[in-house]
Amino acid sequence: MDTLCPHCHRAMRWKQGNLFYCEGCCKAYQQFALCPDCNKPLEKMQACGAVDYFCQHGHGLISKKRITLNYAEDK
Ligand SMILES: [Zn+2]
Ligand SMILES: [Zn+2]
Repeated sequence: MDTLCPHCHRAMRWKQGNLFYCEGCCKAYQQFALCPDCNKPLEKMQACGAVDYFCQHGHGLISKKRITLNYAEDK
């Protein structure tokens, strides 16, 4: 699935790690995964190519399908 720019909704190009680049805005955005239950940032855990998200605020492991994605402009 394409990662869409939070600002102009164009498909962004993946750069590295959590960084995506939007050619429409000429800006890079950092992607954050948020807990769907408490809206706090999730810890990303990578093991054997699979990515899991963990909420440190009592919600435990969160399935990738349930996470909320948020973007912040990279400075
Ligand atoms: Zn954009
Ligand atoms: Zn949570």
